[in-house]
Amino acid sequence: MTQSPNDNLPRLSEVIDRHGLSAKKSLGQNFLLDLNLTRRIARTAGPLAGFTVIEVGPGPGGLTRALLMEGADKVVAVERDERALPALAEIASAWPERLTVISGDALTADWQTIAGKAPVKIVANLPYNIATPLLTGWLTKHPWPPFWSSLTLMFQKEVAHRICADVGDNAYGRLSVISQWRCDAIRMFDVSPKAFTPAPKVTSSIIHITPRTEPIADCDVAALEKVTAAAFGQRRKMLRSSLKTLGSDPTTLITEAGLEPTMRAEEVDVAGFCRLAKVLSG
Ligand code: SAM
Repeated sequence: MTQSPNDNLPRLSEVIDRHGLSAKKSLGQNFLLDLNLTRRIARTAGPLAGFTVIEVGPGPGGLTRALLMEGADKVVAVERDERALPALAEIASAWPERLTVISGDALTADWQTIAGKAPVKIVANLPYNIATPLLTGWLTKHPWPPFWSSLTLMFQKEVAHRICADVGDNAYGRLSVISQWRCDAIRMFDVSPKAFTPAPKVTSSIIHITPRTEPIADCDVAALEKVTAAAFGQRRKMLRSSLKTLGSDPTTLITEAGLEPTMRAEEVDVAGFCRLAKVLSG
């Protein structure tokens, strides 16, 4: 069998003990120690050669090692917990020039600068408490097409359902529309709580998101966020009532978008929301 730099590194359970990485709930720390699983997650992102992979929250580095083993040209990992830095430095020495660790808060990271010029994939076992704001940031806050070619991310299963839900599903909501109007979002596989140390209470899912070449319909992202927030903020109400919060006459807006004023948010498909956003932004 060919040697891997990983063969010279200690086991992850040993790393956690040696560096005192007792899991902090406040940082959403549930670690993955099984390299077969982290390599499967890495492979879900597709070929990594030729890409810089951005990882949020490497912790002791299980997924980081997998990304390097699966051939990422470079990994740039953003970690808030300084206790993890020595463990990550060991990985950086094992794969010289291929791992950069940024010590800081992913919520305030300047992703475009971190990404640099090489093609980027984002792969992460996200801390659950900030997973949704990170995702919506990557989906809405950058020029389009985005700086990333794909997002391969772990979410709580229930959130993964919301991201990928179709109109008519119970889980269909704002996150579904924001995720799907110009991306394909697929739930790839579930991960049992038992795979994590410590085990969380809920099942998790890996999702894979890629930008579409053409959005479902062209519209302004800020208007889409406004209209979905208003409609799903009161999802049981008819649009003629829930969209009143937008300030303009909702009936004209709704009919100009080709929808019925009596429809509820959960009945409007992604294209319908895009039309609403388009009419709203004039
Ligand atoms: N990637 C590791 C794994 O799979 O075993 C750890 C994943 S754990 C679910 C989430 C990681 O995100 C932790 O290492 C935690 O310290 C880190 N983290 C939490 N909040 C963060 C933030 N705001 N910015 C960067 N990292 C953060």
